[in-house]
Amino acid sequence: MKKVLIIEDEISIANIISNSLIEEGFLTTCISRGDLAIDTFLKEKPDAILLDINLPGLNGWDICKSIKQISTVPIIMITARDNEFDEIKGLELGADDYITKPFTPKLLIVKLKKIFKIESSTFFKLNDITFDFNTFTLTTPESIFILPRREAQLLEFFFRNQNIIFSRETLLNEVWGFEFFGDERAVDTVIKRLRKKLGSFETYIKSIRGVGYVFKTN
Ligand code: CA
Repeated sequence: MKKVLIIEDEISIANIISNSLIEEGFLTTCISRGDLAIDTFLKEKPDAILLDINLPGLNGWDICKSIKQISTVPIIMITARDNEFDEIKGLELGADDYITKPFTPKLLIVKLKKIFKIESSTFFKLNDITFDFNTFTLTTPESIFILPRREAQLLEFFFRNQNIIFSRETLLNEVWGFEFFGDERAVDTVIKRLRKKLGSFETYIKSIRGVGYVFKTN
């Protein structure tokens, strides 16, 4: 069973989320103070975190940043529509997705299932490289790497969608998981890191000038 840590100080919202998740077969833990977040995370070891931004004690941004320094746990930010959310900031701090209040529990569950599908999918082998989607382990003839989440998600996406040319924008939407209208160079940065790890197989990720990227083995 997947355990979700809900960090939200509006108790009515936390209860609605928690009840909907329990109905779907998730386990939940709710806390309402930001300054309890890190300790609770370490103690409960959740499989995902739903994180409000304005919280007493410590805000959601700082919590996200701290947790992402020590863990690859998926974090979905819970945001208010108008003033507090900044996609670029969320991306920089490593948030995996966001959901805007008011939202339906159904949408949240779709997002969580999408995240866990990535986690529960299995193993990929291509010539001399293998990639385990569960553990983010990339094995090449030269080395073994545990990939950071974003690199792992991008590699999985490429494995599943070979020989298709994608624009940076599409990759951001598909891999970063939310609509992004900031700097598309985020994609280039992750691709650069991934190529380095692929070593002699780096040519699998081809740049298409003026368009984007394609994963192609020949
Ligand atoms: Ca709040």
